[in-house]
Amino acid sequence: MRAKASDMHSKDCVKVAVRVRPFNKRERDAGSRCIISLVSTSISIQDPRDCHNRRSFCFDYAYWSHSGFTRDQTGLFVPEEPGGRYADQHSVFQDLGVGILENALQGYNATLLAYGQTGSGKSYSMVGYGPNKGLVPKLCDRLFEAIRENQENRQCQVFFSMLEIYNEQVVDLLSRGSRTAGGLRVREELQRGFYVEGLRKIPCENALQVEQLMEQGTRTRTTAATQMNANSSRSHMLIILQLKQIFSKESITKQSNINLVDLAGSERQRSSGSEADRLKEGTAINLSLTTLGNVISALADVAVGKKVVHIPYRDSVLTKLLQSALGGNSRTVMIATLSPADICYEESLSTLRYAERAKRIQNRAVVNESPTERLVKELKAENARLLQKLSRMDQEGRRATDESKELRQLLTQNELQIRAIQTLWEQHLQEALKDWEQQYANITQERRMMQMYPYILNINEDAQLSGVVKLFIQEGEWGIGLCDSAPRSISIKGLGIQEHHAVFRNEQRRVTLTPLTGSKVIVNGNAVYETAELQHLDRLILGSNCTYLFVGYPSERGGEDWSRYDYDYFQSELAAAEGIHLSESNTGCSQTDPSLLAVFYDYIQLMPMVAEANQMSQELSKGVEFKLEIKNLALSDSRGHDLQKDIVVRVTAAGSKQVWMWSKAKFVNRKFLMEEVYQQFKAAQHEDNVLGSEGTEEAILQAQLVPCTSTGLPLGEDDILIDPSEVLGRRLDFQLVLDQCCGVRWIREARNRGIQIGFRVFDCSEPLYTPAVWHNINPLLDHRVQFTSLQTSQRLLDYLQSSAVVLELWGLQEGCSVLSSSLGAVRMTAEGAFIIDLLHPSQAALSDSAELSCSVRALQQDVEELKSLNESLRKENHSLREQLNAVKNGGDGARGRSLRPSCDAEFARALKVFYHSMTSVRGQLQRLRRHRPSEESDLLGLRLFVDEQSRLLRDFSEQLEDGVSTLKQDVAAIVRRKRERSGIWS
Ligand code: ADP
Ligand code: MG
Repeated sequence: MRAKASDMHSKDCVKVAVRVRPFNKRERDAGSRCIISLVSTSISIQDPRDCHNRRSFCFDYAYWSHSGFTRDQTGLFVPEEPGGRYADQHSVFQDLGVGILENALQGYNATLLAYGQTGSGKSYSMVGYGPNKGLVPKLCDRLFEAIRENQENRQCQVFFSMLEIYNEQVVDLLSRGSRTAGGLRVREELQRGFYVEGLRKIPCENALQVEQLMEQGTRTRTTAATQMNANSSRSHMLIILQLKQIFSKESITKQSNINLVDLAGSERQRSSGSEADRLKEGTAINLSLTTLGNVISALADVAVGKKVVHIPYRDSVLTKLLQSALGGNSRTVMIATLSPADICYEESLSTLRYAERAKRIQNRAVVNESPTERLVKELKAENARLLQKLSRMDQEGRRATDESKELRQLLTQNELQIRAIQTLWEQHLQEALKDWEQQYANITQERRMMQMYPYILNINEDAQLSGVVKLFIQEGEWGIGLCDSAPRSISIKGLGIQEHHAVFRNEQRRVTLTPLTGSKVIVNGNAVYETAELQHLDRLILGSNCTYLFVGYPSERGGEDWSRYDYDYFQSELAAAEGIHLSESNTGCSQTDPSLLAVFYDYIQLMPMVAEANQMSQELSKGVEFKLEIKNLALSDSRGHDLQKDIVVRVTAAGSKQVWMWSKAKFVNRKFLMEEVYQQFKAAQHEDNVLGSEGTEEAILQAQLVPCTSTGLPLGEDDILIDPSEVLGRRLDFQLVLDQCCGVRWIREARNRGIQIGFRVFDCSEPLYTPAVWHNINPLLDHRVQFTSLQTSQRLLDYLQSSAVVLELWGLQEGCSVLSSSLGAVRMTAEGAFIIDLLHPSQAALSDSAELSCSVRALQQDVEELKSLNESLRKENHSLREQLNAVKNGGDGARGRSLRPSCDAEFARALKVFYHSMTSVRGQLQRLRRHRPSEESDLLGLRLFVDEQSRLLRDFSEQLEDGVSTLKQDVAAIVRRKRERSGIWS
């Protein structure tokens, strides 16, 4: 069934749809009741504990995908009978996708958001599974169809980007290169608003290409998730389709962005509701989702006329990127997905409330056409020309021939220029295309291998990411582990995976697996320590929680349904081996007690997380051990049976033997924070080990950078900034703290030696040194130096966010002189802090934020002035034309015709405009050419250089693209006008 309340184009309110999915296995096992009912576009939800408590909501669309469907022979879910109430992927697309697409083709920005708890069907609706394609692939199909059908009227370019936001970091899912530490940066520009810097935009020509890119993106997402031990339900996935249309007849360009967003699961926002950890949960676990909620609330208030001072777009990465989708220039649709089961009552109710708020938001979408500025320029030029002609009216047209010669010269000159530019632009496109072609070749290769060899297939908690990674086991012996470059090895990353973890042997079409010492390998729920032969569809867990399904040779594969071996299956099997299982519930009449089931599922959900927490604790030497326990509450609680049993995590400190009991919510929350610490540890690990010149480990140094007040007190939690750019232009103090050096090899080798640590922070003019420490293998440094920037510049901010402080370990021996900092040229504050980030005169204009905001203001003023100038020019132009017409009608015919601007002249004018834009492009190119790293740049300098270089390159390519498209448009207009005229005048 699909129900539709109003036409999508009538108003710019955010349109909201709700969709109810079928029960999943857990819910069926639990004998769940359906508590949702739909009538037309209104939806009711029933409180399972109170039959009088029923709430109803009304939305723009409501989809019943819970029952009344069958699977046809191609695997498609379709209504049981034609016209049945089941809403399939097709009907959802017809309502939501077609509207989004039409909007985009008209030149509006369009956004589609999927919101709901994990497992409620967001990805099913957005991306789809197998043949049941979701909104994104269907939309692309239709988009390219529309482009093909309208080829005569317009030229179209489609660019595809795919990114993920995890823990406020942006990851480009289509970038092959190594991931930038800290993710890509989100920048803001007056015209463009917020955008992701350096995000790959792949030009696409057909839907198949998009599908392959999505496959590639999902694969990157899967490997990133296992590698970073991250949970995909906490990440937001964004697909951005950029559509550029050039209408040659009307000579306008339209550009629209289609944002397709599969949001993080909505449940964790409340999971530890009453816990003391709530603040952390809200801010850290999913700042983007929390902020989205706040933005929606604020906008909903605006819509009903409440006074709202501030809409917190800038508080998170997601809301920055969606700013224009929410309360701005976009036509926006939200699909809220629900589980219909009684056990999900609270989550479903909260989703409906959220959706109801979103419904109230109003946008002001406008068609994105070519900019005013160029129009002004053209009008000005035309005006000047008309004036000239007017003044020349009485003079004879003697100079006309000269003029045309000159123009022709200009023309050829410019034609050459255009050709050069066009080649450059095409080259740029070709490179991008080549890149993805290579990626695609890998996919094809993989399909072939699947028909030749046995392999292991990743199984993820998120069904959307399962089966994405396939690791092939060809004949012979193959090591598996972290080992990156070893020959004959399969490289995997993940918690608890060792350098050399295990060995696969494939001999005579039989595959065995042998764990190596100290590594964790589990087959079908049981730990194995010796060689085990693998059978088709065996379940493997490597390390803490890397789960794989073994797929045998093609001859061993029957027609069995592999989908039953999902993540739950793996964990249930593991729990069973620990003696935790569900009493037989499949015997028909006897249902398992729902509260027991809930406990069981909590147990299997937490089990892998506990394994991961233990692994992290071990690697971080935290000396803390986690253990899952089922607590029996039956005797102590009288409130009802659903509280009889509960899951707790027992936390034991190895040293003190202290014990704490954490609730599930608290554990989930804390584990997330642990993950963050762990990631930082992993990232910092390399830098903390002081390496000798040959890369040998010389010592371990404990060092920290601590933000502080001007008087050196550490900052409290309230002072923590969410958006680092807030410090721009403000005073910033931080301390470099060098605590202790451990295991110094230099001193271990000869006790009469000593050490000093040298360092240079940012642009501090002199290197600084700690005092010398002698005769101690683990010397206590306890050295603290404060640095101050009186007016933080963008450069310092970039440095702090993306560079490393280089600490040098200096060995001292008897008789040598101690290094000392020469402080002559170093400026200091009254409190004794070193002043850094002093502006160079040449950089002052760039980095001074006060000036920046000034120039922004000036720009805004310019735009206003341009607008009014445009208006007056238009009027002037009009009256001049009238004057001209009057003269023309009064004079003779020959004179009149000479006034009509020739095609050549028009063409030359267009070229002039183009030539001007190319002059600035050329300037940019020159700048790029001249831009070289200085001879003595160290790694840091080089990094800064590369950053700057890529920014220049980006600017360059944008200007280039702009210039070319303007020219194309102008030429098209001229050709069209010529055609029209030849019709009229011949
Ligand atoms: P989410 O992205 O919200 O976490 P998914 O879209 O991955 O959830 O859905 C979870 C499971 O439910 C998947 O196995 C999916 O196939 C199934 N599912 C979701 N919605 C539907 C639907 N409308 N019809 C059939 N199956 C669905
Ligand atoms: Mg999903």
